[in-house]
Amino acid sequence: MNYRISQQAASLSPSLTLAIDAKAKQMKAEGLDVVGFGAGEPDFDTPQHIKDAAKKALDDGFTKYTPSSGILELRQAIADKFKRDNGLTYKPSQIIVSCGGKHSCFNVIMATCQPGDEVLIPSPYWLSYPEMVKLAGAKPVILETSDATEFKLTPEQLRGAFTDRTRLLVLNSPSNPTGCVYTPAELEALGNLCVQRGVLIMSDEIYEHLLYDGAVHRSVASFSPAHQEHTIIVHGFAKAWSMTGWRLGFMAAPEPVAKAVDAIQSHSTSNPTSFAQKGAVAALTGPQDHLKVWLAEYAKRRSYAHQRLNAMPGVSCVNAKGAFYLFPNISRTGLKSTEFCARLLEEEKVAAVPGIAFGADAYIRLSYATSLTNIQKGLDRMEQFVRRLVK
Ligand SMILES: *Cc1c(COP(=O)(O)O)cnc(C)c1O
Repeated sequence: MNYRISQQAASLSPSLTLAIDAKAKQMKAEGLDVVGFGAGEPDFDTPQHIKDAAKKALDDGFTKYTPSSGILELRQAIADKFKRDNGLTYKPSQIIVSCGGKHSCFNVIMATCQPGDEVLIPSPYWLSYPEMVKLAGAKPVILETSDATEFKLTPEQLRGAFTDRTRLLVLNSPSNPTGCVYTPAELEALGNLCVQRGVLIMSDEIYEHLLYDGAVHRSVASFSPAHQEHTIIVHGFAKAWSMTGWRLGFMAAPEPVAKAVDAIQSHSTSNPTSFAQKGAVAALTGPQDHLKVWLAEYAKRRSYAHQRLNAMPGVSCVNAKGAFYLFPNISRTGLKSTEFCARLLEEEKVAAVPGIAFGADAYIRLSYATSLTNIQKGLDRMEQFVRRLVK
């Protein structure tokens, strides 16, 4: 048998994050004391009232198919969220609930991109975006940014990247992996250019609520009705409600895009898990007190890690204003990110993700979604490591 793999699937790069994670887990299983900075998820548990709502739904027999786009109660709660948090008006028919924010991104790209299209992706990027674009048969066009501009795409850069084939710009603020947050003025300028060119924006706002130092989140859709017409917002429950395993995300889009996403979903996964959706309703409509506690904890860890990293020889780190990642520049150690992370794990038992996974080989990603004790221990070890590299 000739197991010819489809062109689209064969074009994918396997996830480097998962490879590092697997190695770290294997070392832990062998009894080694590994400190993990690789986590892409909160270290807090899902708030109790959310679990209770899902349990009740199960006990009430809410275990059957729902509409493929999600239950109306949840889509209405999401519409209310957009009104409350972002000043945006959406009808429930413009909102589709999917099996994770990642699934929402995938559906949006499938619904809007095709062979011949170019998709603009600023780097460092969340590693799944270019792979999804390739799966749609379209071409990812990477727009490189660096710590010199706090990893922000400039209007000049965007203007220079447009071609007649440009279909979509991907924005992600606050960002994974850099933690950087665009100011409202910066976002408006990028949005204006897309509106002028008739280019769609996929705005991944899943870290909306994770902000520090007084940073504000503004949705690029919110500057004018034209901005909203050009924007598809992707969001989810994974980060601000610590529901990664629940697999629930959502998107809000102009009606034709929402319809296409619903059609794709109705032929692939159908609805996201019924009782999980009831938990999500509780997440949006219930108390949000947990977030304050988590943010205070994240802020403490971020300040500590940022200060420690900048005190290491050969390392410099922008102080990110959102999400739960820092993205230090390690190029002055003389190592590329893959070798840096492989040796850091081998020699010091510290797991971090090489920046190359996000299209940026001069950096590594450290997640501070782990305890302050772990962060202290891990950074002590990383400091010993870089002191051996940089004399
Ligand atoms: C975590 C994350 C998502 C979505 O994750 P799900 O678990 O699929 O909801 C989407 N975008 C970014 C940038 C993320 O970091």
